Amino acid sequence: MLNVVIFGPPGSGKGTQSENIIEKFNLAHISTGDLLRAEISGHTQLGTIAKSFIDKGELVPDETIIGMIDNKIESLVGAKGVIFDGFPRTVAQAEALEELLAEHNSKVSVMVNLEVPKEELVERLLKRGETSGRSDDNLETIEKRISVYESQTSPVIDFYKAKKVYKAIQGVGSVDGIFESISVAIEGAK
Ligand code: ADP
Repeated sequence: MLNVVIFGPPGSGKGTQSENIIEKFNLAHISTGDLLRAEISGHTQLGTIAKSFIDKGELVPDETIIGMIDNKIESLVGAKGVIFDGFPRTVAQAEALEELLAEHNSKVSVMVNLEVPKEELVERLLKRGETSGRSDDNLETIEKRISVYESQTSPVIDFYKAKKVYKAIQGVGSVDGIFESISVAIEGAK
């Protein structure tokens, strides 16, 4: 399996680039943000718990996320590969993903880190907030999400550096140009 982790701070373009990657490399897509928002709009118990964290800009607890991913991976066994978008977001999640994939004799092929300066992130997310309808796209929550990224999520970078599957990508520029760099990184992991 070709398993890609698309990584980066909130607003770095993970969702946009995932769409391109899925199309080109024919991968299944797992976005924890999308899965959580589906639970929220379905008014499930998981959705109610998740919303209380998301609206504060905090991470949803690891056990909740890992259980959700476990179910989803089971349903994707046999796929050509998977792109993980918004997951793992903590080192504990990265370790859990390693174990879940190992159960299927698989592993992460490449982790692509979209690097974008903080001021640009805030600008993009505020702009997205004008139309996204997302309750977490407001200045206070955006600042909180970025600081949570720096403290809890960025350590995941070292986890994948140690596994020698880490690729940094300059996440500022045209969507097509960034996609070109990502494609080269993924081709190199095949
Ligand atoms: P973004 O990356 O733009 O912040 P996402 O849609 O990926 O947006 O995630 C939105 C929110 O959902 C996050 O701020 C967090 O509260 C929650 N979330 C998503 N994925 C995870 C995860 N892997 N672990 C914990 N919380 C998550």
